[in-house]
Amino acid sequence: MNDSATLLPEEDARSQILALCAPLPTEWLLLDDALGCVLAEDVMAQRTLPPWDNSAMDGYAVRSADLAGPLPVRLNVGETIYAGAVGHQALVSGVCARIMTGAPLPAGADAVVMRERTRPVVQSGADQVDVLEAVAPGQFVRPRGEDAREGQLLLARCTPLGIPELGLLWAQGRQAVPVSRAPRVAILSTGDELCHADEPPNGRIVDTNAPSLALAVRRAGGIPTRLGIARDTRDAVLAALSRLDGFDVVLTSAGVSVGERDYVKEVLAELGVEQHFWRVAIKPGKPLVVGRRGATLFFGLPGNPTSSLVTFELFVRPALRKLLGHAQVGPGRVAGRLEGKLSKPSGLAHFVRVTAAWREGSLWARPLATQTSGALRSAAAATHLLHFPREASSLTAGDAVELLPLSWVA
Ligand code: AMP
Ligand code: MG
Repeated sequence: MNDSATLLPEEDARSQILALCAPLPTEWLLLDDALGCVLAEDVMAQRTLPPWDNSAMDGYAVRSADLAGPLPVRLNVGETIYAGAVGHQALVSGVCARIMTGAPLPAGADAVVMRERTRPVVQSGADQVDVLEAVAPGQFVRPRGEDAREGQLLLARCTPLGIPELGLLWAQGRQAVPVSRAPRVAILSTGDELCHADEPPNGRIVDTNAPSLALAVRRAGGIPTRLGIARDTRDAVLAALSRLDGFDVVLTSAGVSVGERDYVKEVLAELGVEQHFWRVAIKPGKPLVVGRRGATLFFGLPGNPTSSLVTFELFVRPALRKLLGHAQVGPGRVAGRLEGKLSKPSGLAHFVRVTAAWREGSLWARPLATQTSGALRSAAAATHLLHFPREASSLTAGDAVELLPLSWVA
C-alpha cells in the first residue's frame, strides 16, 4: 500500500468533523448583532403586516367595475390619500381616490390604476381624472397580511438570518431573537521562528497565521481569541493548551507534521484529546489533526500560511457553521471551466488557487502562477479553489471543473 492510500479522503474528513459538531445552546441577540446567525426557535408573528390593503403604486384607487365601459373613463377624485394617512371617504360608483404608494386603500376600492395610465382633466374645475385602461380586481393592491399574519409562523427554527429575515423581525417590533450562540474559538501559533508584528524580527518571521485565522473565524461567524505564540517545546505547547476553558473550538497552526519539534499531536494526546485522524489526501494541507475533548473541538492546522487558510475553508469553516446551526455548511461549489491545463500525480486531491471570471456563459478558472503553500502570495488574488480530483492526473482546457468560492476574498 502506498503512502497516499492510507490518507483520509477530503469528504470523509469533513463528514467525520461534522459528526463531532452540533449547534451550540441558544442565546438571545439584539437584531443588530444577529446577521448570519441561525434561529434556534420558531418565531411567530405578533403583528399582521401589512396591516391593511395598500397601494403598490402612485396612482388612483378605484372600483374596478367602474372601468368596465368604453375607455377612457372619467372619474371624480374624492380625496388624496398619502402614505401614513387614512382615507375618509368610501368610494361610490364614479369616484376614485388619488393614492400614494403604501397608503391604505379606501373602503370600496378594489384596485389601483398607476398614474401613468391616467390623464388629468384640466379644464373642468372639479378634480377629475381620465383613466386610460381597465384593471382587474386586486391590481397593484398589496394585500393585508402578505408579509405576516398575527399568531402564525413568521420564520421557522433553523432559518439563517440574512438581511431580509432581520427586516421581517424588525417590522414586527422585535428587538432580539433566539439563535444558536456563536462559537468561541481560541487560536494558537506554534514555532520558534515566529514573532509578533510589532517586535523586531531578529531572524524571525511574523506570525501571520494567527491574525489571518482570527479574521477567517470572525467572517465565519465565530468569536476569535488569540492565545499568542508557543515556542517549539513540549512544555510551552502544553502550557498554552492547558487554559482552554470556555472555548468551543481550538485552532493551532504548525507543529503537526513529522518534524522533530512537532509537539502538537503529542500534547493533545497528553491533554486527553481524542484524536480522529491526522492526515488528509489533499494538497495543500495534508497534515491536519482533528480531535475532541468534552465539548471542545481541536484542529491542528498546518503551519504553511496558505495551507492553514485552505484547511480552514475545507474543514474549520464548515464546522463553525454547523455549530452556528446552519444546515448548509459548505464549502459551496459552483460549476466552472478550466482555462489552460493542469497535471499532477494521482493520490492527492489538489485544491488549486484560481481567479475565476464570468465570460461567454461560463465561469472560467485561471490557475494562479504560484501554487506553493509556503507563500501567502499564492493565495492572494485567488477567488476560488479548483478541485482537481484525487484520481485524476490531467485536466485540459475547457474541462468542466468544480470551483469552491473562497470566504477570504475582499
Ligand atoms: P511547520 O508545520 O511547523 O513545519 O511549519 C511549516 C511552515 O509554516 C514553516 O515554514 C513555518 O515557518 C511556517 N509557519 C508556521 N507557523 C506560521 C505562522 N504562524 N505564521 C506564518 N508562517 C508560519
Ligand atoms: Mg514548526
